[in-house]
Amino acid sequence: MKLPRQTTVGRSISVAGIGLHTGCRVNLALSPAPSDTGIVFRRTDLDHFPIEAQEKHVARVSYATTLMKRGVMISTVEHLLGTLYALQLDNAYVDLDSLEVPILDGSGAPFVDMVRAAGIEEQQEPKRFLTLRDPIVIRSSGRSIRAVPSLQFKITYHIDFPHPLIRRQSLALEVTPERFAGQIAPARTFGFYHEVEGMRRNGLARGGSLENALVLDEKGLLNGQRLRFADEFVRHKILDLLGDLALIGRPLRAHILAEKAGHSLHTHLASRILASVDSRRRDEP
Ligand SMILES: [Zn+2]
Repeated sequence: MKLPRQTTVGRSISVAGIGLHTGCRVNLALSPAPSDTGIVFRRTDLDHFPIEAQEKHVARVSYATTLMKRGVMISTVEHLLGTLYALQLDNAYVDLDSLEVPILDGSGAPFVDMVRAAGIEEQQEPKRFLTLRDPIVIRSSGRSIRAVPSLQFKITYHIDFPHPLIRRQSLALEVTPERFAGQIAPARTFGFYHEVEGMRRNGLARGGSLENALVLDEKGLLNGQRLRFADEFVRHKILDLLGDLALIGRPLRAHILAEKAGHSLHTHLASRILASVDSRRRDEP
């Protein structure tokens, strides 16, 4: 049987936008990288300082996932990383001239378009799958996330918000590039209008607008915004989860089941999965 090989993008491709939280303008370029590089962010405004997309660099998980290495930050990495991970892209450089990945339309769809325009190229080395052997469960006050062994990469997600447009939403799927691109990538970031003021006081959501986020008041969506899917909210949570699982740095063979989780539980699970592999290595001489 032919082993799946690692992949990278066929050529460099770039996009410009603003950061959701900083509101800063930023240029992003995605470029080919050699086998076993992984996804590596580089701050072109700081002498190409590299920050590997790895769980050990997670610094903050409130409202977005932020990486930090030696005091240098890259914020809101999850929609880009989730897209690259679901498209099974192993290696790439992501050059940014500011500290936050552009939010674009608030979904993963513009990143899918970029990767498709650049093309995906197979490389020499085989993919290094991480196959989960034993279940992992993390619970925290009514929320939970579990990983169970599976030969396919699957996600089951449940959310429950006391809002008439959301309430309980559930979705289960095997993550393939095609299903991701059609069913998950277009789902946009969402937020509640009553939280926006507080977020802005904390330096968050400064670039947020109706062009890049679904904004909810008590009854529904603001200013005639329309959903792309009736259950767009749970789909977006799956995009966020994929972005956090991408920090494992290897394609995963496991079934992930999340119940009202968020970036904190997602990244906690990524770290536990990595720790389970480390302990296995110690057990196997
Ligand atoms: Zn998100």
